[in-house]
Amino acid sequence: MHPLNKQEQLLDAVAFSARELLSNRPWQSSINEILKSLGEASASSRVYVFQHTAGSEERILTNLVFEWCAPAISPQIESESLQNLEIGAVGFHRWVALMSLGQMVYGSVEEFPEEERALLAEQDIKSLIVIPFFVSGKWWGFIGFDQCDEKRAWTAAEVAALQAAASMIGSAIERQNTEERLQQQYQQLEKVNYELDSFVYSVSHDLRAPLASVLGLVNIAERDENVANLRNYLSLIRGSINKLDYFIKDILDYSRNARTDLFLEQVNMQSLLEEAAQDVLPIDESFVMMITHELSLNELQFWTDRKRALIIFSNLLSNAYKFKDSAKGKSIVRIQLRREHDGMLVLLEDNGIGIEAVNLPSIFKMFYRATDKSPGSGLGLYITKEIMDKLQGKIQVSSVLNEGTQFQVWFPLLRE
Ligand code: ADP
Repeated sequence: MHPLNKQEQLLDAVAFSARELLSNRPWQSSINEILKSLGEASASSRVYVFQHTAGSEERILTNLVFEWCAPAISPQIESESLQNLEIGAVGFHRWVALMSLGQMVYGSVEEFPEEERALLAEQDIKSLIVIPFFVSGKWWGFIGFDQCDEKRAWTAAEVAALQAAASMIGSAIERQNTEERLQQQYQQLEKVNYELDSFVYSVSHDLRAPLASVLGLVNIAERDENVANLRNYLSLIRGSINKLDYFIKDILDYSRNARTDLFLEQVNMQSLLEEAAQDVLPIDESFVMMITHELSLNELQFWTDRKRALIIFSNLLSNAYKFKDSAKGKSIVRIQLRREHDGMLVLLEDNGIGIEAVNLPSIFKMFYRATDKSPGSGLGLYITKEIMDKLQGKIQVSSVLNEGTQFQVWFPLLRE
């Protein structure tokens, strides 16, 4: 091949790489084509990309993630020894020292220091050039070009072209990371925006309704001299104020969960359920809570965020009470505690009014009430779900209308 032609081919491949990397596709979907085009144009035996997974400057762990091979050259991508490779520890500290400063390593393997040669000879490499690239200022990995058929020296123009290709890959990854981060932030903003919208909407209804009824009652009371009537108005006013208070408490629970970090302590989960029951269940003989488990005292002790777990139990128990079915003589909520999958599974099953199947997928949404009869804010299960997410746990529901509802709540063990 005419030398000028060779150089033109390489420039062509670099231009192709630029086009691919500047397109909207993720870089991972075009990298194989890029390696092939650079490999063919530079008449290399192998072209590959290593990506560092973790590590500090002294301890770099790297993985062979993409590779192109010329015909008859043995691929290395399946080789386990090139995964999670601590290059500094297998004799390549020279590479780490040079590449972490942005310098490339190249030349004929027989002139490389002895400790580097074994691994390279295993792959039949006679000459190579590896060029580091950086993403957001951090050494991300490197692209390499192996020559297995003969010793080779690269011209300055070839090296410049390959360096350009390497830094383009780094820029493309950086751009894509930035786009992904922006996308995530955008989704987060959309969620916050939606919550704020629903919040304003709900506040105008849920906060004003009890206030309006308090005002109305005060108006009537002012005109009524009858003491018995006045007591009745006061009791209605108390009901409205309680409603307001619950609503504000829910909002505070929500905002505390969003703003404060987890605080882990060892908690007896049965005692915590009993405490929640005391907080939210009124004295009512027609309502029974039964806790069963086969756990020792030791196994009941569980590392979790006490306040958050208490809010979860309080919400679920108060729902079991609010949505009990008075037509059934006794309302029962059965609770089972089990140690499962490295965590604690709490099953709460009530024999209340149940939830219609169409409503089930929505009950964890903000301000969603599955029935008009709900006296609550529609925030309880939303907060419960948010807290569960923060604890990295899971909550699931199943229900049969008129028969009852079961919640499965799984708390992960957050500390041994
Ligand atoms: P609310 O403040 O209305 O209780 P939640 O977010 O706690 O709001 O619950 C959302 C809806 O899910 C409730 O309005 C109710 O319709 C339904 N729900 C929740 N728990 C139960 C249950 N144990 N039995 C029947 N319906 C329930």
